[in-house]
Amino acid sequence: MKIIRSPNAMAAWSEGFIREGVKIGLVPTMGALHEGHRALIREARLRCDALVVSIFVNPTQFGPQEDLAQYPRPISQDQALCRKEGVDVCFEPTVKTMYPSGFQTMVTLPAIARRWEGEARPHHFSGVATVVTKLFGIVRPLIALFGQKDFQQSVLVRQLVKDLDLGVEIVVHPTVREADGLALSSRNIYLSPDDRIRAATLYKSLRAGAGVIREGMTDGATVQNAMVQVVKKEPTLTIDYLAVCDPTTLEPLSYVNSRAVLLGAVQLGAVRLIDNLLVAFPRRSSSRIEGFS
Ligand code: AMP
Repeated sequence: MKIIRSPNAMAAWSEGFIREGVKIGLVPTMGALHEGHRALIREARLRCDALVVSIFVNPTQFGPQEDLAQYPRPISQDQALCRKEGVDVCFEPTVKTMYPSGFQTMVTLPAIARRWEGEARPHHFSGVATVVTKLFGIVRPLIALFGQKDFQQSVLVRQLVKDLDLGVEIVVHPTVREADGLALSSRNIYLSPDDRIRAATLYKSLRAGAGVIREGMTDGATVQNAMVQVVKKEPTLTIDYLAVCDPTTLEPLSYVNSRAVLLGAVQLGAVRLIDNLLVAFPRRSSSRIEGFS
């Protein structure tokens, strides 16, 4: 496995392979890799010829009060995981080479980025959209893998690729969870042992909402209330939002009649947890809810 730090060297590596008709795949990450990232890497490995994993803690997607300085950076462990999974290149650019002095251009946001995470973290998606555009420009993948864990991000990236004609196929991989349902996240290491147990409440609340839909309830407010009641039983959790939304527009739904995404964000001590669950109704009699067998 090659470790490439300079964007120019990365672009030159890709150029050589593209000329030979090699299909390059990219998994963009901020490192501190876990089983969720591993699942994306494994799926990407199956779908491309040459696989690049980028590890870059992108400062433009962190707010001033957020954990940029403390964000975990276990780089040798990350490299070992990549090597084990057959990654061809670990691309680890520095902040200075990604945002050299004189850098000015930021991607502005579509409507789908304004609500939910966009409201809670005002500059976050602009930073994400900008860094993804830059990574695509440097690595020039034909395919890129993102996690459903960050549902709004995945919708935004699809829109970005479409609107800016970036020509990259976007694959969204299902969320990888702990045994109690907590979505894996690099930030879970910040949870105290007690909070780690409480953290599964967010997923429980999404399951409760999905269960109410499965029982035939179509009223959005009732579904939302079912989710809120579960979180309220755990007073250490503060609800940021729990919402029943259209999975394409991310607008709240008054009635659930085909597909919905249940979106949630809660604060638990110093940690902000986000999660989501997709609910599909192909036919009334055969509703399918992600996570239900
Ligand atoms: P991050 O390093 O947190 O920026 O995440 C890099 C990619 O991994 C993003 O596309 C995330 O959505 C994805 N990801 C993070 N956690 C999970 C998870 N538990 N399951 C699936 N994908 C994930």
